[in-house]
Amino acid sequence: MIPYGRQEITDEDIKAVVDVLRSDFLTQGPNVPYLEDTVAKMVNAKHAVAVNSGTSALHIACLALNLGPGDKLWTVPNTFVASANCARYCGAEVDFVDIDSRTWNMSVEHLSEKLEDAEKTDSLPKIVVPVHFAGQPTIQEKIKKLGDHYGFRIIEDACHSIGATRNNEHVGSCRWSDIAVFSFHPVKIVTTGEGGMATTNDAEIAYIMSQLRSHGITRDKDRLQRKIHEPWYYEQQFLGFNYRMTDIQAALGISQIKRLTDYVKSRNMIANKYCTDFDELPISTQMIEKENQSAYHLFVIRIQNNDDDTREKIRKKMNSFGISTNLHYYPVYLQPYYRDLGFREGLCPEAERYSREAITIPLYPRMEKNEQDLVLEAVRKSVMDN
Ligand SMILES: *Cc1c(COP(=O)(O)O)cnc(C)c1O
Repeated sequence: MIPYGRQEITDEDIKAVVDVLRSDFLTQGPNVPYLEDTVAKMVNAKHAVAVNSGTSALHIACLALNLGPGDKLWTVPNTFVASANCARYCGAEVDFVDIDSRTWNMSVEHLSEKLEDAEKTDSLPKIVVPVHFAGQPTIQEKIKKLGDHYGFRIIEDACHSIGATRNNEHVGSCRWSDIAVFSFHPVKIVTTGEGGMATTNDAEIAYIMSQLRSHGITRDKDRLQRKIHEPWYYEQQFLGFNYRMTDIQAALGISQIKRLTDYVKSRNMIANKYCTDFDELPISTQMIEKENQSAYHLFVIRIQNNDDDTREKIRKKMNSFGISTNLHYYPVYLQPYYRDLGFREGLCPEAERYSREAITIPLYPRMEKNEQDLVLEAVRKSVMDN
């Protein structure tokens, strides 16, 4: 079977991890700050805070922006559940903004309309979480403008898009947002096994996130309430978590991230070949805006689906040709947990239409030409015979 995604672990990665196992520090050693510095420099953000998952990064990002009961966070339905769950962890409410029919990212027009309505009913969101779907950056400069006008803060869910650029600027620079969040889960572009990171240009936000990562504890002598300057002395000043990344994970990340540029280039080459070859088929692919270079975490095709079964028939047929596929994503608000909160079909028609038509097909950096040919052939046969 050709998988829809596949991580790459090299001998060098293994050596980097083994070196840590043989060292004095399995956690809270030198590798975590080194990985943070590496990412911060690469994306041109002032601060980076490494944690044990992208989900944890979203959680502490929301807390650092003071999200709490009575507040609202808006995101898109076309994402992994974590983009919405982070609000629920804080006791806040979630709502969803529909996607654009071509870029499959948050629609700025829908966002703008929904904000206008929310202003009338005094129910504006405190935080908006745009998701860089499949690796394509969102139109941050416009979302930021709306944020300034309506007074909401922005967390970019960049879990798909490390290595992507918009107007030649790296995702994660936070020029048009408060915080950006990455995931290093094995299905993502680079991995630490499990892991995540938040970047920001705000020193206070970075400080709060780094405290939340480790129980709310500080040793910073300027911040201590009691002026006891002993090495053993620390203070817990608010309620935090143990969301720390280990040095073992960070070492893997440092080794992996050296190949990021190479990975993104390779993903783009494979994606471009898909786009060219699919041109003649009755399927559509994600429109990438000219300002953007996608990281192509995923490659999704949309088939014309007039009934709910066509997509499953095509998926099964591709499977019979040895090609595994996936769905990214069923609308988050139609998950049973969100239905229990009162969400129903019809909230975001474009995202619902998308989810009936979407099939994620294989894409990973070391995909061989003959593997891609098999996928191309399977798509052609499955779609045309249908
Ligand atoms: C993977 C993912 C997350 C969560 O990251 P984890 O590291 O798995 O916790 C959040 N948002 C999106 C869009 C993701 O794809």
